[in-house]
Amino acid sequence: MKIDHLIGGKAQAGRDYFPTVNPATQEVLAEVASGGEAEVQAAVAAAKAAFPAWAGMPAPQRARLIRRLGDLVAAHVPAIARTETDDTGQVIAQTGKQLVPRAADNFHYFAEMCTRVDGHTYPTETHLNYTLFHPVGVCALISPWNVPFMTATWKVAPCLAFGNTAVLKMSELSPLTAARLGELALEAGIPPGVLNIVHGWGREAGEPLVRHPDVRAISFTGSTATGNRIVQQAGLKKFSMELGGKSPFVVFDDADLARALDAAVFMIFSNNGERCTAGSRILVQQSIYADFVQKFVERAGRITVGDPLDEKTIIGPMISQAHLAKVRSYIELGPKEGAMLLCGGLDAPLLPDRVKKGNYVMPTVFADVDNRMRIAQDEIFGPVACLIPFRDEPDAIRIANDIAYGLSSYVWTENIGRAHRVAAAVEAGMCFVNSQNVRDLRQPFGGTKASGTGREGGTWSYEVFLEPKNVAVSL
Ligand code: NAD
Repeated sequence: MKIDHLIGGKAQAGRDYFPTVNPATQEVLAEVASGGEAEVQAAVAAAKAAFPAWAGMPAPQRARLIRRLGDLVAAHVPAIARTETDDTGQVIAQTGKQLVPRAADNFHYFAEMCTRVDGHTYPTETHLNYTLFHPVGVCALISPWNVPFMTATWKVAPCLAFGNTAVLKMSELSPLTAARLGELALEAGIPPGVLNIVHGWGREAGEPLVRHPDVRAISFTGSTATGNRIVQQAGLKKFSMELGGKSPFVVFDDADLARALDAAVFMIFSNNGERCTAGSRILVQQSIYADFVQKFVERAGRITVGDPLDEKTIIGPMISQAHLAKVRSYIELGPKEGAMLLCGGLDAPLLPDRVKKGNYVMPTVFADVDNRMRIAQDEIFGPVACLIPFRDEPDAIRIANDIAYGLSSYVWTENIGRAHRVAAAVEAGMCFVNSQNVRDLRQPFGGTKASGTGREGGTWSYEVFLEPKNVAVSL
């Protein structure tokens, strides 16, 4: 199978192709067009040409097309989920029941929302000020490989619904479902050129895109290193930067332990641990630490590693051999830094024949981790949990914040005052109290510090996809 670029509503062959590989089997799934400067120029030109008519279309009409795209995604959930699982190794229970249905929700939600964009008024004695929101123009949407379809739609839906046109660049490791999205957008009646897709590598396809002077806004999700590079390369544009994380999951001794344990296991091991909001530093109060560690390890030991197409599998393969090597290097590093390996490690898991060549790693638990160790400071982006003891509330806050990142955070306590105090003190874009990560499409999603700038979701998506204008009328 060949996957081509989508430019101006037409499939455009690549000058070169590269393989995309199933990380569970190493089978080549497709040959993907590798784009560069020329394809980016053509795609941005197509998006620019399509912009005036799309931006000028009445919002209810645009909303109908976006809603239709959501309906088409919803109608194709099983096929898209299967492709996503094959391309990424994300387990079918997640892609089929959570991630792809959520992608359809993204279209339905922003279709509704674009008909309700309102403004503000600031009356004075001499002037009436009011706000208009205009679409920005051509937007570059850049997605990582970990939950690519959901992430792409999280960007495409508000971008298009608010009247912008887009050039989407997926990760070279997981381009397949976005290619399907491009087809469905045309089928929904979204005019050619409104959504363009250029495939390829970061430096060859991504960089000319973010540097392009006709690109007015960049919505990027990916690593902190790439985010920094893009900000330096892109010049003056609107940015939304959703970057890496190493989020604290803080459990006080008065927490509902059974629920906290379930959530802690879920937040580090679901999505193969390849999750930006993973609760990868699990901070546990000393008085319950031994008990918590024992129960956490029991639960981790019961996790099914296996074929991502099996509904019972919790952990599938890592996205690539290079990423597997990175995750394994941290598992090797942990004991050298003085952490105690309690579960998992470098031994290969027992696997069904179909996936024996897959990029697998066992769910791994390190206890007695010091927050200054590299396994605690670096984003491993795999199923590796670090358990860190703390003394009291100030100690928990100090450890939680002693990190470059600030994406998500989790606090478990039955003490309502403490819950609010810690939620306020933790340096993160999001804090979940007595809860795993539960996403409402209205909430501001994003991080602080090295986890990024800008927020998306609900009206927060205005920040990147709409341009406010103040009109001051003399009275
Ligand atoms: P990455 O930074 O390597 O790549 C992300 C995307 O950027 C890819 O499409 C890549 O091709 C492109 N790219 C690479 N170099 C580029 C350049 N110079 N110019 C333009 N584009 C370029 O990240 P990844 O390994 O694909 O994804 C994993 C990272 O993404 C993790 O750090 C994870 O935490 C982060 N992430 C963050 C969120 C969030 O919402 N904060 C969500 C998911 C993943």
